[in-house]
Amino acid sequence: MLKTDNNMQLYKKGLFFVSLGGIGEIGANCYLYCCDGKWIMIDLGLSFADDRYPGIDLLVPKINFIDEIKNNLLAVIVSHGHEDHAGAVAYLADKINCPVYASSFAKILIENRLKEFGKSDSIDLIELNPTTNLSIDEFNLNFIDTTHSIPQPHAIVIETKYGNLLHTADWKIDDEPTLGNHFKKNDFIKIGNNGILALIGDSTNADVPGFSLSENKVKKELSQVFSRYINRIVVTCFSSNIARIINIVHAAKKNNRKIALIGRSMKKNIEAAIKANLIKDTNIFISEEEASLIPKENLVIICTGSQGEKRSALYRIAYNSHKNIQLETDDVVIFSSRDIPGNEKTIDALKNLLIRQRIEIITADDDLVHVSGPWLC
Ligand SMILES: [Zn+2]
Repeated sequence: MLKTDNNMQLYKKGLFFVSLGGIGEIGANCYLYCCDGKWIMIDLGLSFADDRYPGIDLLVPKINFIDEIKNNLLAVIVSHGHEDHAGAVAYLADKINCPVYASSFAKILIENRLKEFGKSDSIDLIELNPTTNLSIDEFNLNFIDTTHSIPQPHAIVIETKYGNLLHTADWKIDDEPTLGNHFKKNDFIKIGNNGILALIGDSTNADVPGFSLSENKVKKELSQVFSRYINRIVVTCFSSNIARIINIVHAAKKNNRKIALIGRSMKKNIEAAIKANLIKDTNIFISEEEASLIPKENLVIICTGSQGEKRSALYRIAYNSHKNIQLETDDVVIFSSRDIPGNEKTIDALKNLLIRQRIEIITADDDLVHVSGPWLC
């Protein structure tokens, strides 16, 4: 349906929405909007391969279609920095010859990835100013602050001569966010009152009835949980969950503990958050080497591995194969995350290994150490 020159004629007049990934699956978000033959793309994300793809770790959207529209693709807009929305930009940089717009935090993450790939100069990456509109040919874009587990998420209002569209991207309504601006409820009401042609919703768990609790509740609970222990505390969560990490920093500070970061992606994301001025208490961080030297009641370790991933920091620590960090009886490991469906077996195996070493495990079933962000983390 998408391909062939004849079909390209179809897009010459009118307003169209095309998904190249993300609908009916988790991850690889990539959406195109077309107005009278001119196109913009929202998001270009990765997804993680499962057992159906042996030997493959990551999947990118199938964007062959943009070869057909290359000269009329005017911009890529990244709604926020999560890998499933921004992670494929570096992989597919060679295919993109239009500007890519991203908020300051997402831009840092994309720049890091481009640098890793030796592609730093291959795309025109522009910092998005969400407080002003962005006018691109047939499109006028406005950005609305939402709340999410990563900094600077935005819903995007796409104004065209045919009417307005609302692309929500990932969101949660959190009245007490611990990171960034408040959810702009009134802006959404205004947009609704003005009338929209369609709302394109895109958020994990959006179809689950009920409310998710505020991240602020986790912030309070973590401080309280930390105060119960005099041993080492290890917290594992998704490295992109900057809101959670800021709350762990808060809890550590309140309980006179320093923080060691273990795991490459954890270190990279926190470096990006510090660079974007989102984490200001940088004195609280110590190196892995220092972590092995300070009293255990003064230490928190934040690490990757909440899904039991082999090669992750927590996996190596649990198997006692980490160079600097060894756990002892009565240390505590907090799973500040949820189990992604399909990962239960590997997570349980990791927990069992820790329990056999008489390490205490805390999950969201025990204390409020996790709420949905609403991403998978
Ligand atoms: Zn997200």
